[in-house]
Amino acid sequence: MIRKTRLYTPGPTPLLPAAQFAMAAADMHHRTPEFRALYQKVLAQLKLFVGTKNDVLLLSSSGTGAMEASVSNLTSPGDRTLVLTAGKFGERWVGLLKAFGCEPEVISAPYGQTFDLAAVKAALQPGVKAVFLQATETSTAVRHDVEAVAKLNKENAPEAVLVVDAITGLGTTHFDVDGWGIDILIGGSQKAVMIPPGLAYLSVSDKAWAAMETSKNPRYYFDLRKERKNAVKGESAYTPAVALVAGLGAALDYIAGQAGGDLEKGRIALIDNAQVNAAATRAGLTALGFTLFAPTAPAAAATAVSVPEGMNSGDVVKALKTQFALVTANGQGEMQGKIFRIAHLGFFDYLDTVALLGAMEHIAKDTLKLPVAYGQAVAAAQKVYGEAVKK
Ligand SMILES: *Cc1c(COP(=O)(O)O)cnc(C)c1O
Repeated sequence: MIRKTRLYTPGPTPLLPAAQFAMAAADMHHRTPEFRALYQKVLAQLKLFVGTKNDVLLLSSSGTGAMEASVSNLTSPGDRTLVLTAGKFGERWVGLLKAFGCEPEVISAPYGQTFDLAAVKAALQPGVKAVFLQATETSTAVRHDVEAVAKLNKENAPEAVLVVDAITGLGTTHFDVDGWGIDILIGGSQKAVMIPPGLAYLSVSDKAWAAMETSKNPRYYFDLRKERKNAVKGESAYTPAVALVAGLGAALDYIAGQAGGDLEKGRIALIDNAQVNAAATRAGLTALGFTLFAPTAPAAAATAVSVPEGMNSGDVVKALKTQFALVTANGQGEMQGKIFRIAHLGFFDYLDTVALLGAMEHIAKDTLKLPVAYGQAVAAAQKVYGEAVKK
């Protein structure tokens, strides 16, 4: 049998063919009018995609580069900072802050859950300079309530800069960046925008720009003020990942095309798409008897699934790969062997979900010998899809 390789990992995600063509054709120098026009177009598109009037900057790095830039540009050693964490990416904030001389206060929740808002409220006090969290914690597939945190931030520590890692939140979750008061919102190229790894982007509010005027941590490659100065001219400070910028432009055109050329509406359509696929996946896997790892606040970016006691999630990941060439993700760190993760962000459609669930029926019945019947997961997903398209 022919087996097509299909990515279901929460980054990198499947590539959009139109973006691949644009990347292959991007044979241009970055200090030319042609590139400046492209760069300016993409930065303007990103503002619509993020949904903000704030500046949006592009960095040639993986998403972590923009996380580091937020820390190095906003903080000084010894600053009072707060991290809200419930997984591996939240822990990355802690590591970054420590690397830049800050000892953050940490509000954490067990893996698979979101943090307690009362604890967040108590920690948000005058004197806190910056707050860091994820919109969706990809390691556990949990969605955090960014709106509620932003509200608490406004009420209790209005001078604190709010930094949201939305690397898998963008394109899967609704944000009102300016209305809620998100000072920095970070995205990454290998997630919902359907292109390879190598670009990060972030929106920066006036409040965040002001905070950078007094911060003392060192920065060079990730000097956001320098990037902003160059972006005004349609350039980046250093040689950008030219091909990826071209690919990103094509992908954002495609997303706009989902809503007749309106990128803001296209973003909403992309979010709805991820949410329906996530709900269908949850229904299908639950119908097969699997347990969701994050049942109370599931993200639409990805679904994390627990395997029955005594079973290793790596066996499911391996069976999907060897039998069907489907690439899913194991758990990270302590969660390795206990959960596996399936992505819904970016270039996934409903039939991709059906394919994954069909394969999972084979794995559950034939490989794991669970008491299930063919069609069980797919039927549950079809019901979710049928309801969603009726609306
Ligand atoms: C993918 C991801 C990142 C960034 O990881 P990179 O490997 O640096 O691109 C950060 N946060 C979250 C929530 C992610 O999903």
